[in-house]
Amino acid sequence: MKSKVYFIPAEAKEPADALAEKAKKAYLAMGLNDRIAEGDFAALKIHFGEVGNTGYLKPQWLTGLIWEIRQKTHHAFLTDSNTLYIGNRSNSIDHLRLAWSHGFTPETTGVPVIIADGLIGHDKQEPRSAQARTASSKIASAILDSDALVCLTHVTGHVQTGLGAAIKNMGMGCASRAGKLDQHSVTHPRVNAKQCRNCSVCRTFCPEAAIVQAEGHVVIEPAKCIGCGECLVVCKYGAIKMKWDEDSLRLQEKLAEYAFRVFEHFKGKAGFVNFLIQVTKDCDCMSKSQKRIVDDIGILASLDPVAVDKATADLIVERGGGKDPLRAGYDIDWSAQLAHGKRIGLGSTDYKLVELS
Ligand code: SF4
Ligand code: SF4
Repeated sequence: MKSKVYFIPAEAKEPADALAEKAKKAYLAMGLNDRIAEGDFAALKIHFGEVGNTGYLKPQWLTGLIWEIRQKTHHAFLTDSNTLYIGNRSNSIDHLRLAWSHGFTPETTGVPVIIADGLIGHDKQEPRSAQARTASSKIASAILDSDALVCLTHVTGHVQTGLGAAIKNMGMGCASRAGKLDQHSVTHPRVNAKQCRNCSVCRTFCPEAAIVQAEGHVVIEPAKCIGCGECLVVCKYGAIKMKWDEDSLRLQEKLAEYAFRVFEHFKGKAGFVNFLIQVTKDCDCMSKSQKRIVDDIGILASLDPVAVDKATADLIVERGGGKDPLRAGYDIDWSAQLAHGKRIGLGSTDYKLVELS
């Protein structure tokens, strides 16, 4: 049977209360709210955006659906886990301050923010199950201590996975720092000495001091590199590369397996709302305002994370007018996360799009 994906057209230029109404409509249509019981801890997984980033989901767009969730339980909270890279979201204090500065306060949203893997990212649980790439997932404790999960996702392209949508929000976003490290450990960027201008920018951003000076260029020490991908994004000269096919494929498959163990935990009490608004080449970890790679499309919601991401990618490609805007930024086959997700039972790529008015 086809999974239902609900779709409502929307654009960032609409008034915030109109967007909040549309997001609520899409959220209610998928039926998750009917499954939330009084007293349930409901984790609303989101990315609060980095300092200087402007693409993140605005708290005002979420007020309608959060109000509906609060009618079901008083235990809803917005959440994210700490990042692997050293920035403004790598410990809970900086992370909370950043969330507040982007407007995610109880006064605006009606719910608190809880950083899911604790003060410095050590609070985790480790569900196990046999999978092709991973034996377990190191997941932020507050996620797995919850009874319901709503993934609120700003859809973007991504330097390592090509697509950052519901599967990425659940698989990478719910992982503790150790879980993120585990997933990234399969990626190994290299410096092309001929293209390197020796500007040292990558060395400044590398969280592990894994980039060292060589004769006229830099090199990456594989033993120190954790595969976080920061250097790939900051090199303006394209001198740092991954083996896209190999490295990205393995990363995407790990991502899907991490997502699967989170999804399985909620036993039907998980839902996904994807915002195809201000879709950018890179994710919201970027400390800058980015241009759209496609015109705003709208909001999608589904109980099936694979179906909602497949519908998301299909709509982006369709609006790209024959070219895939996601592949225009980084030529990565993003479909690997969907294919592996389908293979392991995370969801279906076969969906029915239901347009809401
Ligand atoms: S940022 Fe790029 S060009 Fe600059 S040192 Fe690093 S690899 Fe070389
Ligand atoms: S070399 Fe690049 S991928 Fe490796 S740890 Fe440093 S920034 Fe991250």
